[in-house]
Amino acid sequence: MADRQNTRVLLDKRPHGEPMDDDFKIETVPVTEPGEGELLLKTLWLSLDPYMRGRMNDRKSYAPPVELGAVMVGETVCQVVVSKSDDFTAGDIVVAQVGWQSYATMAADPAVVRKVDPALGPISTALHVLGMTGRTAYFGLLRIGEPKPGETVVVAAASGAVGSIVGQVAKIKGCRAVGIAGGKEKCDYVLNELGFDAVIDRKAGNMAADLKAACPDGIDVYFENVGGEVLQAVVPLLNSGARAPICGYISQYNKKTVADVESPLDVLGSLPNPPVHRFFLQFEWIAEFKQAMLEMSGWIKEGKIKYRESVVEGIENAPATFRGLLQGRNFGKQLIKVANPD
Ligand code: NDP
Repeated sequence: MADRQNTRVLLDKRPHGEPMDDDFKIETVPVTEPGEGELLLKTLWLSLDPYMRGRMNDRKSYAPPVELGAVMVGETVCQVVVSKSDDFTAGDIVVAQVGWQSYATMAADPAVVRKVDPALGPISTALHVLGMTGRTAYFGLLRIGEPKPGETVVVAAASGAVGSIVGQVAKIKGCRAVGIAGGKEKCDYVLNELGFDAVIDRKAGNMAADLKAACPDGIDVYFENVGGEVLQAVVPLLNSGARAPICGYISQYNKKTVADVESPLDVLGSLPNPPVHRFFLQFEWIAEFKQAMLEMSGWIKEGKIKYRESVVEGIENAPATFRGLLQGRNFGKQLIKVANPD
């Protein structure tokens, strides 16, 4: 173990607006040997997610900020290298919140280090379609969106980790799925591979009119991923009795001050006839995670749910890749491949 080195990405400065490469610091340190009841984990896959931008700010939020000098937060698929616990064996593949680093020593708590069942799908999918973003799409759409057959469901970032699953689950539930994505390649994928009924290119310069044409019967469910211009185009088309699960609003995450942020809660809440809307976190349905992921795995095996990964190799490339995610440069779930299993 003495020759194992941990490469880790620390938050060095708080960004003002868009994050810069020098807001992060990369260092290599020896791994810490696990004590009794601990595990040494080797990171195989790191998930990069938009929420990480919020953790770089020193602002009040649903989760505490990353401290300056601390390892950036993040969910990972890891291999157990050394186990000093009866609950785990060397070689086990697990999901844990190890962050942006290639090794971690942590308590062997099965509540926070969860074994991956490789029978459900490739292990990387535990970070998206069979993990956090899949659950987000599943519960946000089904529990808050409450889609009914024949209704129109609109989602932006439609080729991405959450949006792609929202549209496909909407189709499974008998709805008309309309996606919004950035650029022709992503739009072609959403329409032709994922099977949405219509797609709008947010970069084509005609979003409000294009969305209106794609939604002749208005919008019954708007799954909010991006806010900003997309939300402004959606608002006039919302039907009476519409539902709007507020999942996130990525277009606002790089705003320099809180005062610059246009919150979908404020936009929707100020309408004369607002849709049923609320912000949600996927943890709300934690007791039902297992059942939901079994259902999702079944849909994948039946060919009803497809997914796409955007993979960059090397933990040292996480900062630039994360910046790209916030600019829409990812195409599918953004992952960093950190290492192969031993
Ligand atoms: P994605 O994989 O969809 O990647 C982000 C995508 O957002 C980009 O590829 C881009 O797609 C789109 N985007 C970026 N900037 C803008 C912009 N200014 N205007 C419109 N679209 C933009 O990310 P996720 O699926 O992981 O996350 C989607 C949303 O879900 C985020 O808001 C995230 O914060 C939220 N979320 C919330 C959770 C919860 O529990 N509430 C859990 C997980 C995610 P394109 O180029 O195609 O427009």
